[in-house]
Amino acid sequence: MAKKDTTCSFCGASRNDVNMLIAGVSGHICDSCAVQANTIIQQEFNHTVKAKDSIAKSKKISLLKPIEIKNHLDEYVIGQDTAKKVLSVAVYNHFKRLSYAPKVDDIEIDKSNVILVGRTGTGKTLLAKTIAKLLNVPFCIADATVLTQAGYVGEDVESILSRLLQAADFDVEQAEKGIVFIDEIDKIARKGDNPSITRDVSGEGVQQALLKLLEGSIVSVPPQGGRKHPEQKLIQIDTKNILFICGGAFDGIERVIANRVNRQTIGFSHVQETAIEEDSLLKYITPSDVKDYGLIPELIGRFPVLSHLDPLKREDLKRILTEPKNALIKQFVRLFELDGIKLTLDKEVLDFIVDKAVEFKLGARGLRSICEAILTEAMFELPNSDLKNFNVEMTYAASQFSKSKITQLKVA
Ligand code: ADP
Repeated sequence: MAKKDTTCSFCGASRNDVNMLIAGVSGHICDSCAVQANTIIQQEFNHTVKAKDSIAKSKKISLLKPIEIKNHLDEYVIGQDTAKKVLSVAVYNHFKRLSYAPKVDDIEIDKSNVILVGRTGTGKTLLAKTIAKLLNVPFCIADATVLTQAGYVGEDVESILSRLLQAADFDVEQAEKGIVFIDEIDKIARKGDNPSITRDVSGEGVQQALLKLLEGSIVSVPPQGGRKHPEQKLIQIDTKNILFICGGAFDGIERVIANRVNRQTIGFSHVQETAIEEDSLLKYITPSDVKDYGLIPELIGRFPVLSHLDPLKREDLKRILTEPKNALIKQFVRLFELDGIKLTLDKEVLDFIVDKAVEFKLGARGLRSICEAILTEAMFELPNSDLKNFNVEMTYAASQFSKSKITQLKVA
């Protein structure tokens, strides 16, 4: 028990001035110093945990080899082997570059920004999204069609970085290691060489504006997006280590490729035969085709990696329905499970869903709408029933689908 004249060894307060005085072997601590000490311990602890976390994260990133990245992509994305390999290597090199500190006069490693060319709905965004999630880095999707050069109605290119900053919870350091996916890059192609482009020359202005982001410079970004205002506080972001992945359908580029391939292969009939098949032409794509399509050479120069995605065949669509880790059918099964109902679908129903996606030219994106059309009525009714099993048969699927809005879609 502390004596009357005992004081706290930390703050010197006497026993009469405090609520409690705890005795140690050779001193005392008062209640308020104990609380303070506890706060300091908590703060230090959180700090250490955070530091350990970030070390663990960076270790995790550097440990992932291209094959491991590709294996992970295989769990979520069907097919697209070439694009997966190219992306895995690009991302691997990107993170090697991040952890590499060149000495004076040493070799500098350039960034490996990527362009993915492939029809809409073939998995370009899905690939980029899956990689960002795996690497645990901030990720954002920007749409090139809404970008305009400064001074025009639309979004400044800097708005892309505002989005990345938001995805990073305004942690600038994290945002500076993020991945940006710019969709529909083909829509800012310069009009001219390709008659299918409807955009005017301002597309070239946007390309010029994008260069600034891509080349690795300090960019002033309005944190909430939108236009820059003189009174708005801007945040400086260094884009040196941000990986840019662009995607585009480049409608009609097969013609550009065909022209070049056929020109180069006169006399090589076997290659010509392959070239005639439009679906397989994309695999011959080169930066010069992208240039002929209307991207300016300076921009193409900042995308050293160019890859293509194959059009999805019927078998691919069927696999997309059931195979990926979060495949559509698995999602619906889980939704029913949450109501205590075991959902099963007859094999023919899966074929029916794929057939309709092909028939209405909806691609992989349409699979979800078709599933919704078939299952909505059941999802409405069954939560109120005692049913434990629900098997979707062909007649049920066909009748539900025939009532849906999809059937009103005109097929061109
Ligand atoms: P885009 O090529 O237009 O960027 P997305 O990646 O956005 O296409 O694909 C749209 C949707 O279609 C995805 O969310 C996914 O559900 C499905 N999908 C498309 N391609 C694939 C694929 N290769 N593997 C698995 N799902 C796919």
